[in-house]
Amino acid sequence: MLRALAYLIASVLVITVVRSIIGIVLKGFSDLFHPAPDPQKGPSSPSVPAGGELKKDPVCGTFISTATAIQKRSAGEVYYFCSTECRDKFNG
Ligand SMILES: [Zn+2]
Repeated sequence: MLRALAYLIASVLVITVVRSIIGIVLKGFSDLFHPAPDPQKGPSSPSVPAGGELKKDPVCGTFISTATAIQKRSAGEVYYFCSTECRDKFNG
């Protein structure tokens, strides 16, 4: 009886470990196939439409339009900056 219980606990542990390994591997693959966009793209892109939403620069607190702001994608969130200086400060 105790032996059966120990076997059961061991099986659950193995399944948990295997599941977490599969999760890590799958995450690695999705990172490989969906790389983060290049954050070095400057504001000089002519294809951005005029106007847009107002967002707050998290470094200096200035409100800037999303159409003209410098964007940075970090951990799934998009941040908007008034200048490359603010963006670089945010990085460091
Ligand atoms: Zn700023």
